[in-house]
Amino acid sequence: MTTQVQVLIKATTWARESHGLFDYETKMQTRVSLKATETSLVLIRGSEVYLAGVDEEIKEGVKLLAVVLVRPEAVLLINDVPGRKTPRGRLERMWLVVSSLRTNGLAGYRLAEGDVLRLGRICFRVKELLSSCEEHSDGHRLVWGRSLSLGGLGAGRCKAPPPDTPIVLTIADELETKDGEKVAEVACKICLMDGFTEENPMITPCTCKGTMRYIHLECLQRWLNSKITTRERGNSRSYSWKALECSLCKTSFPSAVIIKEKLYDLVSVPKPEGEYITLEAVQRPHDSPQTIHLIPLQNKNNVRLGRGHDSDVRISDISVSRNHALIRYDQGKLFLEDNESKFGTLVQVRKPIALDAESSFSLQCGRTVLSFTCRQRTRCFSCFGCGHTEPEEAQSLENFESLEADSSGEERNFTDESLHEEEHPPT
Ligand SMILES: [Zn+2]
Ligand SMILES: [Zn+2]
Repeated sequence: MTTQVQVLIKATTWARESHGLFDYETKMQTRVSLKATETSLVLIRGSEVYLAGVDEEIKEGVKLLAVVLVRPEAVLLINDVPGRKTPRGRLERMWLVVSSLRTNGLAGYRLAEGDVLRLGRICFRVKELLSSCEEHSDGHRLVWGRSLSLGGLGAGRCKAPPPDTPIVLTIADELETKDGEKVAEVACKICLMDGFTEENPMITPCTCKGTMRYIHLECLQRWLNSKITTRERGNSRSYSWKALECSLCKTSFPSAVIIKEKLYDLVSVPKPEGEYITLEAVQRPHDSPQTIHLIPLQNKNNVRLGRGHDSDVRISDISVSRNHALIRYDQGKLFLEDNESKFGTLVQVRKPIALDAESSFSLQCGRTVLSFTCRQRTRCFSCFGCGHTEPEEAQSLENFESLEADSSGEERNFTDESLHEEEHPPT
């Protein structure tokens, strides 16, 4: 089959290398226009962005920015070569540039649970989104370029695992002796009492030994919650806590445990009445606190995110602009908008993006921004370009299943290592 596809790519690279940031205000940029007519890798060496064939080995000093996958059914943008696992250090993650969606008539990006947002170099996961709107259709395998404003780039509600997966605890069953009597000398190490019930069992959540092993579930919950610092800002609240660990054996406690197949939150923050959104800071290096921002949405149309004192969610980081971004609440839906920030408002791309003739958006990959235009002349493409029945279309593309990133593994890499490799703030 003769390929009649042209993917035009404008690559703009910031001259400086700083935390994978791109300065949207600077003129210190190099630009290059590229044209892909077949499956190609978009690579960067130094500040030079170029295309290479799919078999190209990614050598040291080269990074993969994106893969343009040309198939008879569609042209897809994906993060890595199918069937290959490019080492983390040679792969840039793809982030949607929210301000690039403005031309689509709809302003901003519609948020869903599981989306990972990035302001400058600070990342948040949408942990909970409780609004009156109907369930967001984020179960699709891929997202169409022309409908990126409608969201669905994240891992979705079910797939996003909590940052620390709950551990399964055995209730201290061995406390029941042969005679059915509870051993009297076993006491909770917090309250020093020895009784326990089904609702408030004695558990062994750490590696302490002997009589120091036991603790009441409720005593542990109360103790952990007492370690949380609350900060109020307007009607939104931020909760943060340092690593929660056993003061004796230093085992880290998870945020939830499973006891006899039931999930118990160990750390819980009070939820407001009505609609709200919680943003969870994607964790910084080990010693910095975990933070959850809880923002009630009642009587509120805009939630301001930024470094300024009047922000609803205040983020004290030099890479965050004073008035960086906005979450607009509109008829039960939440849209993320950029406010001409210096280092951009981004959403992590966790699904293949199908390019169509109406697509108009940019991706940031490291310090490069890639803008895509797709020219398509085959019969196949015209039928993809017209209808507005994404679910069916997505199903006809079932064979792209293998392209999906392993979401659980991705998430872990993402949380643990990739975001905050460098520790010095940009200047
Ligand atoms: Zn106790
Ligand atoms: Zn312990």
